[in-house]
Amino acid sequence: MTTIEADAVIIGSGPAGVSAAWPIVEAGFSVVMLDAAARPTPEPPAMDLTEFRRSGDGWRHAYGDDLCGLALGGLRSPKFATRIGQAVLADACHPMIRATDFMPTRSFSAGGLSKMWGAVAPAYDDWDLREYPIRKRDLDPSYRALAARIGLSGGDDDLTDFHGSGLPLQPPRWLTPIGARLLDRYCRSKPLPGFMLGTARNAVATETIADRRPCNSCGLCLYGCARGAIYDSTHDLAGLRRKPNFRYISPALVTRLPAIDDPALTVDIEGKGHYSVAKARVLVLAAGTLNSTGLVLARCLRAGRKQRLLTNPVAALAFFLPSRIGQPLADTTFSLAQLSYRLEISESSDYASGNLYTADGLPLAILAEKLPVSRPTALHLSALMASALVLATFFLPGRYSQNAVTLNIRGDGREELVVEGRISEDTNMLILEGIKKLARAMRHLGAIAVPGSRSIPVSGTDAHLAGTLPMKEHGEDLTCTPDCELRPWRGLFVVDGSCLPDLPSKHCTFTIMANADRVGRVLVKRLGNNRVGLSI
Ligand SMILES: Cc1cc2nc3c(=O)[nH]c(=O)nc-3n(C[C@H](O)[C@H](O)[C@H](O)COP(=O)(O)OP(=O)(O)OC[C@H]3O[C@@H](n4cnc5c(N)ncnc54)[C@H](O)[C@@H]3O)c2cc1C
Ligand code: SF4
Repeated sequence: MTTIEADAVIIGSGPAGVSAAWPIVEAGFSVVMLDAAARPTPEPPAMDLTEFRRSGDGWRHAYGDDLCGLALGGLRSPKFATRIGQAVLADACHPMIRATDFMPTRSFSAGGLSKMWGAVAPAYDDWDLREYPIRKRDLDPSYRALAARIGLSGGDDDLTDFHGSGLPLQPPRWLTPIGARLLDRYCRSKPLPGFMLGTARNAVATETIADRRPCNSCGLCLYGCARGAIYDSTHDLAGLRRKPNFRYISPALVTRLPAIDDPALTVDIEGKGHYSVAKARVLVLAAGTLNSTGLVLARCLRAGRKQRLLTNPVAALAFFLPSRIGQPLADTTFSLAQLSYRLEISESSDYASGNLYTADGLPLAILAEKLPVSRPTALHLSALMASALVLATFFLPGRYSQNAVTLNIRGDGREELVVEGRISEDTNMLILEGIKKLARAMRHLGAIAVPGSRSIPVSGTDAHLAGTLPMKEHGEDLTCTPDCELRPWRGLFVVDGSCLPDLPSKHCTFTIMANADRVGRVLVKRLGNNRVGLSI
């Protein structure tokens, strides 16, 4: 048994963990990051789209060497089926999870889910934060620091304030002709009331950042970015590992959090066949919402108590631009979000939002799944329509989700997290109404909804998981203080999605990161002038 000691111990190397680490490391404190990751993720294809199409090897990246991804079905992002996606989602085993009507997306890998994310990265505004005990001004310095470090690209248009203004932005060089054309039509036409369109805000570098090369529109985003243009948190991890006061340990699966009255904040760790403990002056939990919630509930044996779990109810829909049908596939493209929209939801001042994607970089089999005709016809149509298709996502705010997590002690004495998902009839109706409005707005721009292409997947498919240990000004046990210290512990801070008290329909990870950076800055003050050296 070895003992690890540091000023701060951080559990998890995803976007939340690395963001909390930076300010503490830069202030000179010793930081140990524990990560359950046991295997490296596969390398993305280093070629261009034409070479990829000709290589005859693309299927490996699209579905894995054993074609396992083909069995996953079409109701989730095509990223789940890819070789990288399968590796990122594999091995997640602690705590065990039993899910009904819910897709429990979580990861045990370096960089966490950011190794396969879509990189859409808007900031929240004060309306989005209205249920939070903090305001936008508390996050602003962190949003700015992060935008410069991770590389944020986007345009200056109707959605600039919605996505967050005043941030250092790189130009959206990834905008394809079809994206530019829709945006142009939107700017020329009289937009429909309650609908706003603009370029997406992506954590994609279009200018060189350290050893990451700018996006060259190779179109292979779905399979990972060999140029490193798409930000993922292994980029930050590499930077942190160059600092002498930072240590990354993996595989290091945290199996037990400290007891509530343990001032040494001792955690139990399982490595490759050996066991260790880590002690810290502050402990930061960033294992992803489901993993962190499981660890917390197991430590205080809160079996049977239901915690609310927020997700964004989501739908997807395909559109086509008739004038582009039959056009040859482009040699360059970009497969992450092109455009984003904001759509007012009826009878409330709240909004839905979503993104538009071109389809010319996707495998035909994925497009065929979206078409409501027989498989051979669908494949034929996909080939004809790929360059004319636009795929849209539609997200509702998290308050429309009705999920719950509970800790269950099984017959064999082992703990499992039970996750129950639910989308109510009212929410389904709201989605259908919202999608109708979106279709009307898109028709105005010359894009027609593909009949039968709408899908509403189960809760959790959005992978925006939050709210189980929410920050509140004054709260009961298992809520966080505004500084994200988990009640009733002293010195245990939660910085992943668990601590967000509300989920607007915007994507949440940029805010998870900004909040984690904010907490990192708070911890620098907490740690004061004393320092302990790294002891491993
Ligand atoms: C297909 C897909 C697309 C997405 N697209 C977007 C998007 O466009 N925009 C957006 O905002 N969000 C998106 N997301 C969500 C985004 O990826 C997550 O919000 C984000 O990764 C959460 O970061 P995190 O650090 O909290 O957790 P994670 O990324 O899950 O990282 C958790 C880390 O903790 C480690 N860990 C877990 N348990 C333990 C343990 N017991 N002991 C030690 N280490 C542990 C893991 O190995 C990992 O390093 C997407 C997700 C998916 C799956
Ligand atoms: S982000 Fe740009 S360079 Fe990277 S895979 Fe996508 S298109 Fe290619």
